[in-house]
Amino acid sequence: MAETETTTKTPAQASTPTIAIAPVVGVGEFAEKIGQPVTRVIGELMKNGVMATINEQIDYDTAAIIASDLGVELVPEPTEESSSASIAKPVLPKGEGETRPPVVAVMGHVDHGKTTLLDAIRQTSVAKGEAGGITQHIGAYQVKRKDRWITFLDTPGHEAFSAIRAHGARLTDVAVIVVAADDGVKPQTREAIRYAQEANNQIVIAINKTDKEGADSNRVRQELSELELVPEEWGGTTVMVDVSATKKQNIDKLLDLVLLVADLEDLRARPDGPAEGVVIESHMETGRGPVGTVLIQHGRLRPGDFVVAGDTYAKVRSLEDWHGKRIKVAHPGMPAVITGFKATPAFGNVFYVAANEKAARERSVASQRQASIKSMVKVKKIEASDLTDAITAGKVQELNVVVKADVQGSLESLLGSLEQLRHDEVAVKVVSSGLGDVSESDVTFASTASAIVLGFNISLSSAVKQLANREHIQIRLYKVIYELLDDMRGALEAMLKPEVVETVVGELKILGVFKTTKAAVICGGEVLTGKAVTGAQVRIKRDKEVVGTGTVSSVQKEQNKVAEAVEGEQCGLNIATNTAIQIDDRLEFFQTEERQRTL
Ligand code: GDP
Repeated sequence: MAETETTTKTPAQASTPTIAIAPVVGVGEFAEKIGQPVTRVIGELMKNGVMATINEQIDYDTAAIIASDLGVELVPEPTEESSSASIAKPVLPKGEGETRPPVVAVMGHVDHGKTTLLDAIRQTSVAKGEAGGITQHIGAYQVKRKDRWITFLDTPGHEAFSAIRAHGARLTDVAVIVVAADDGVKPQTREAIRYAQEANNQIVIAINKTDKEGADSNRVRQELSELELVPEEWGGTTVMVDVSATKKQNIDKLLDLVLLVADLEDLRARPDGPAEGVVIESHMETGRGPVGTVLIQHGRLRPGDFVVAGDTYAKVRSLEDWHGKRIKVAHPGMPAVITGFKATPAFGNVFYVAANEKAARERSVASQRQASIKSMVKVKKIEASDLTDAITAGKVQELNVVVKADVQGSLESLLGSLEQLRHDEVAVKVVSSGLGDVSESDVTFASTASAIVLGFNISLSSAVKQLANREHIQIRLYKVIYELLDDMRGALEAMLKPEVVETVVGELKILGVFKTTKAAVICGGEVLTGKAVTGAQVRIKRDKEVVGTGTVSSVQKEQNKVAEAVEGEQCGLNIATNTAIQIDDRLEFFQTEERQRTL
């Protein structure tokens, strides 16, 4: 067998043959490949919580787990799908393809003017006649500057990055980081810079709101320099420009700089052939069904093409540019709106054109299967872990939420961020999620699951509001992702049991014991360190061992009750305790306080 031949080269490999397996494989075929009876494979799958028959398919991860239980090592078989899914960034061999427009994300701290800047760019760069119809945001748009196209992502950059990262796709070439001149570098500015750097994007800094009183763009430059982004005019390499989004000042200069930094990269695309790219927005539309905006990265997309995106596919029914104008072909760099999907594709999914409907359906079904098997395996893994034990033991308290958002991109980003709000003892649990306004069934579901409803960029009908009031279901609506996350963090922190912090306040040596009853001891001694305080708790130590505990009922100095006695002083004590205190015992006084914990 070929497998054994290749694996007998080293002794370490000799014992575990490696076999190449596709991302999804039939159970029967898998058994044959690894040379095991099908019944054995089905048995192993059952042990791992996966019920599958000989005709069913399993994904690579599942196959790998089963294989290793059977002493076989798997390697992934390279496939067309996996190679297109792993487009980190569409790069072509040198000299091939045509120059393509740079793809730009706008990021920055909340309220620093991202949305206003995106609108200003759109308005100043669109020919007058066209301006009327352009109000809808489809996830991206293009502007022309000096005869060159630039593609701007219209989704908030932060969300775009985290969701795209979750899918492993790469989308943007340039990050415009907006910093308000009257507010300076803020936590989300730093986060945006980090995202851009991790994604290997070129950076342009737009110092915004320079029209405002109190604006100090030099201070912003100084703060950025401290983050090792030194402005060119100060001898560094980072390009920065002062702008005003509301007054539309310096927008052209900003676009020039975007083109300038884009030219540092060799941005080319394959101009012809079947299209591929990334889904950048999706939603349901009455009358049109699932609608997806895709960014073409290579090739040409035409109506009638069969497009696979994750676990769904489309025969492209209508193809529109970002103005909503019907087009016959979309080129690299263009955002295009597609109808004809069977279900809404996920934000960040890589898409590609399949040869025909059968191939498109098969690929999407294979990835559906992969997703559902993965979730089965995931459930199994969690079950086996300590986490489940902790939940059943009541250690992890969960805050149930129903999440609704306007578009797939925001939803994914929200779900990803909520998942990260984890702590050993408390966590958010998303019991249901979806696109569109909060419906009556969301409220009913929230009521059965004792959940609160979180809505992002959506609205609430009065009927739903009334139902929620009747059912005592909390619905919270947000327009800013950070506010939602902050609120959830706050809610989880409130669920955390406060931490009990102990402070030792002093130590005393017992010099005499005057009266001992079952519940109290009257004694006297000298304070060695700190102080003896009325009301403090006490540990009674004998030869360094704790022999009992109690509370200080009173402290007396020369027959007078006092609040405390300090180091060096002698005092009388009435201790509430059931331990018989003896001469030479040490009393350690301590106080406890409850402190609210944070995540
Ligand atoms: P985002 O949260 O980053 O998208 O910020 P927005 O675009 O929503 O802007 C936040 C606020 O700042 C809004 O009230 C804008 O009108 C205001 N704003 C944005 N850009 C400018 C600017 O250049 N100058 C002034 N004075 N205000 C601005």
